[in-house]
Amino acid sequence: MSDKKLKVGQVKRSAAGLPAIVETVKQVVGEAGLTRGWKALAHLNKKDGYDCPGCAWPDPDDERSALGEYCENGAKAIAEEATLKKLTPEFFAQHNVAELAALSDYEIGRKGRVAQPMFLPAGAAHYQAISWDAAFHTIGKALNNLGSPDEAIFYTSGRTSNEAAFLYQLFVRAYGTNNLPDCSNMCHESSGVALGESLGIGKGSVTLEDFYKAEVIIILGQNPGTNHPRMLTALQKAKANGAYIIAVNPLPETGLMGFNNPQQVKGLLGVTTALTDLFLPVTINGDMALLKAIEYLLWQYEQQAPGQVFDRSFIEQHTAGYEAFIDDLQQQNLDQLAEACGISMNQLRQVAELLKNKTRIIACWAMGLTQHTNAVDTIKEIVNLLLLKGSIGKPGAGTCPVRGHSNVQGDRTMGIYEKPGQPFLNSIESNFQFKPPQHAGYDVVEAIKAMHSGRASVFIAMGGNFLSATPDTNYTAAALRKCTLTVHVSTKLNRSHLVHGREALILPCLGRSDKDLLHGEEQFVSCENSMGVIQLSKGVLPPVSDQLLSEPVIVCRLAKATLGNRSPVNWDKYLQHYDHIRDDIERTIPGFADYNKRVRQPGGFYLPNCNREGSFNTASKKAHFNIAPITTIKLADHELLMMTIRSHDQFNTTIYGLNDRYRGIYNERRVILMNQQDMDQRNLKQGDEVDLCNYSGGIERVAHKFLVVPYPIPVRCTATYFPEANVLVPVNSVAKKSNTPVSKAVVITVRKT
Ligand code: SF4
Repeated sequence: MSDKKLKVGQVKRSAAGLPAIVETVKQVVGEAGLTRGWKALAHLNKKDGYDCPGCAWPDPDDERSALGEYCENGAKAIAEEATLKKLTPEFFAQHNVAELAALSDYEIGRKGRVAQPMFLPAGAAHYQAISWDAAFHTIGKALNNLGSPDEAIFYTSGRTSNEAAFLYQLFVRAYGTNNLPDCSNMCHESSGVALGESLGIGKGSVTLEDFYKAEVIIILGQNPGTNHPRMLTALQKAKANGAYIIAVNPLPETGLMGFNNPQQVKGLLGVTTALTDLFLPVTINGDMALLKAIEYLLWQYEQQAPGQVFDRSFIEQHTAGYEAFIDDLQQQNLDQLAEACGISMNQLRQVAELLKNKTRIIACWAMGLTQHTNAVDTIKEIVNLLLLKGSIGKPGAGTCPVRGHSNVQGDRTMGIYEKPGQPFLNSIESNFQFKPPQHAGYDVVEAIKAMHSGRASVFIAMGGNFLSATPDTNYTAAALRKCTLTVHVSTKLNRSHLVHGREALILPCLGRSDKDLLHGEEQFVSCENSMGVIQLSKGVLPPVSDQLLSEPVIVCRLAKATLGNRSPVNWDKYLQHYDHIRDDIERTIPGFADYNKRVRQPGGFYLPNCNREGSFNTASKKAHFNIAPITTIKLADHELLMMTIRSHDQFNTTIYGLNDRYRGIYNERRVILMNQQDMDQRNLKQGDEVDLCNYSGGIERVAHKFLVVPYPIPVRCTATYFPEANVLVPVNSVAKKSNTPVSKAVVITVRKT
């Protein structure tokens, strides 16, 4: 609870504008000071600068904005990294773990950068300084004392660069396990599975340029105004070129409605560009029913004008399963579909009318689709709609799962995956002369269960805030506490450092914006954005401490300390220059030919993408229609459905502030957004304090002391912020096939305190 009282104001109708600039300056100058802050912003997302550690929205291929190629939340992410606040051993001597753990995630995050390696011995209350060599020795010893490499977990967050990710997976496989869970398991894993099975590649097909050529852009389960803010610039340009925007979301998110472009005078003066033409306030998990209703209406139009609505030649040439799909579609009951998605028949007909003669259609989506039990099928339903219209593999059309973390897609491309494909394992074997483990490892949910059951006892995280990012907080905390050793490679202090194994280590690394010198020579790393563009990232800021190491160096030294001379990999080579890492990526992973030459080209290069080129890398070389049932979540009268969301002052588990200005919520994060009708039925009013409860699997999970906020959200639907509400998300509640935690559809009851 903040010391200031909860304040609830109007939901904003337009995003960004002057307030975004004010917030940017406040955060950056507040943390880094004027000179350092200005330098940090001046190089952010520039072709010879560094890549934003925020989301994975692409930078323009052509000119980058001279005013600044970043958004408010990108600037906040940089403020966090460029802060001058550093945590020395003296800080940890003054503040014990229990005291720090009692703080909120916001307060912990505001403490600053960890200045040198810190160790928490068994039974100790305070972290204490340790040398890098001693730290690596401690980890190596713990790993080598395990009965099997599968008793260790190696987690990766999406901030990890290509170079560090490639070395990390190489080390972990040389050590002997595929236990490589990553944050993708919790976000777009459902997209990867759905697109891989139906279209032959687990990535989106569109480029930024396609947005400017689209006739219709459908945005489902995504809040770009907060989570991918520069997308609003692309939507503004698309609108100027005549595109229609359809937004599907239980919440009337500000960034979907209007945009005051702060890079334009009119935007600064408050002149709004209206974005969404058709807002569909779908009920939680109503997307599948909505998509089927639209397809059903389009099929009716197709009956009346064969070949005028469906792209018959595309369907015949490039797809499989059309007949069976249409047979199933004909059985659908439109009224039931409308009821299941909570959208009026009139709006459904408006959508179908809009799409009837359009073919350049882009579908964008994010967690609002991927974190559901039927997520994989719902994403395949999007693909069905695009296949009917032939909207894949041509300008202005295609799939666009928008990645929420700057290099989460790159990490997967580098081999950070618990279920690696055989071609990749064979390539590792032929290029590095060792046989990597062939059996699948643990994803995030399986890793939590393995630690909880004692099947795994050493946990190592490359970035991230595992405890706060994962479901079932109390269960996950118990799992981490059962470990003999927990290790975090981090820039800043976070809650996962404070919920630890018998022993714990914090290894402070360089951030994206930090200058990285190796033998006095500046090094750069590279990342892959949502559109599959690989570009370099070279930090410019002097690090806050001379005891920080880069992620690649940390991995190499850890590998040497653990594997010693039993490793066939020449780790010392990589410690000479990162070009050697990229050379080995080039010979191991397809699509990286001339990596070192092409990554130095301004703006980098595109990875191959079969869908973008109009082909489908499935076994049949065809795109597959998919048939799946509508699933509706049955609620008892006293139950509600909860989805976890981010506030505008948040990036994943990093909390920049206690306000959510677009939604009109100030000074408080323990809030539940409720429909007025549901509040009335429970005799609740704004500001009432409640406990939220979940009883899945016969276990009572309680999120205490939340304040009720009336909000325009569909009946029986509610929303809360994570990580505070993750305690309610059952570890066994996962999406079919992708095993992604179901954070968007949690059955809760509300209990007045
Ligand atoms: S849109 Fe995403 S990548 Fe771009 S500046 Fe903002 S947070 Fe960073």
